[in-house]
Amino acid sequence: MTSHVITDEMREPAACETRDALSRPLHDLRISLLDRCNFRCPYCMPETEFHEDYEFLTRSQRLTHEEILKVAGVATGLGVSKIRLTGGEPLLDKKLPDLVRGLAALPGVEDLALTTNAMLLAPAAAELADAGLHRVTISLDSLDEQVFKTMSGGRGDLQTVLNGVNAAEQAGLSPIKINVVVERGVNDHTVLDLLEHFRGTGHIVRLIEFMDVGNRNGWRRNQVVPSKELLAMVQQRWSMRPLDRNYPGEVARRYQYVDGEGEIGFISSVTEPFCGSCSRARLSSDGMLYTCLFATQGTDLREPIRNGVADEELGDILSRIWLQRADRYSELRRSDVAEHHALSKVEMYRIGG
Ligand code: SAM
Ligand code: SF4
Ligand code: SF4
Repeated sequence: MTSHVITDEMREPAACETRDALSRPLHDLRISLLDRCNFRCPYCMPETEFHEDYEFLTRSQRLTHEEILKVAGVATGLGVSKIRLTGGEPLLDKKLPDLVRGLAALPGVEDLALTTNAMLLAPAAAELADAGLHRVTISLDSLDEQVFKTMSGGRGDLQTVLNGVNAAEQAGLSPIKINVVVERGVNDHTVLDLLEHFRGTGHIVRLIEFMDVGNRNGWRRNQVVPSKELLAMVQQRWSMRPLDRNYPGEVARRYQYVDGEGEIGFISSVTEPFCGSCSRARLSSDGMLYTCLFATQGTDLREPIRNGVADEELGDILSRIWLQRADRYSELRRSDVAEHHALSKVEMYRIGG
């Protein structure tokens, strides 16, 4: 089974590396394939907002695979080596393996991953692996049936998701990461059971602080369980030892079970921002390029692409965007600037997690 961890060595600055206004390189591209989803997680797409009359993007508004490949190809030329497919729910795209095949063939792509809620993963895992997908991150907030139902907006089936995890393992889409958004009073009491379940499997559970992405999830700071508090809770059950980062810019703080049963991670965007090393650009399904998860505006790439822009010119556009980038929302969250930004942020399902 191949592991696709990026080492520091692989991260040596390339000669052509593009750096932003805060000297951060462009290494990652997150592609939100479509804004639709088969779940209605209240922290992302609450049913009250995303009801049956909600107007999602139409097919013609979304980038085609060819258009996505064009942007990704140009981005790899600027130093992007990690690509993640996300959404919305990327597995709702029936032709996903074709796109994966195209992305895997791009020169310079060292890490090609998919983030999914895994409801549709079991039947697709082997084909995705064959197409060149390296690994998957699966979102799974609780192993308590009722809590899981609540956190998927009543849409998810726990056993189907667990079958997806198994299929991904069989297909070699590892290391498998399990993303858990922790919300106080909703699933925090089920976190230890979930960790117990995945201990010793080789899958890496990452506990994510509930973030104030977008404007529709009713985020309140008191719903956030700080990673420090979670770590203390975990340490009451198991002895844990901190691990070094796999590469500069890794967002998760890594810990290892001292008894050798694996590792877990904490993603603490709210209480311990990591903007200083953030190297991610995000492409929305309608072709907007954003340089921060909490962006209030982006740059439309769809129009120039549909007007026949040459790769070189598109490269210049991307370079200009990155060179001007000075985003550090999480670091500014406590200040008035963040209050200001809170007015019109892009939603998570559009910009990709
Ligand atoms: N639908 C796929 C899934 O859920 O894995 C991919 C898209 S989803 C937007 C990507 C990731 O963002 C998921 O792991 C999800 O848990 C996380 N996420 C969504 N809203 C969040 C929030 N408000 N705070 C923290 N993480 C969030
Ligand atoms: Fe869908 Fe993922 Fe958002 Fe949940 S977190 S609503 S699965 S896009
Ligand atoms: Fe990157 Fe923006 Fe998150 Fe900071 S707030 S880590 S700049 S995405």
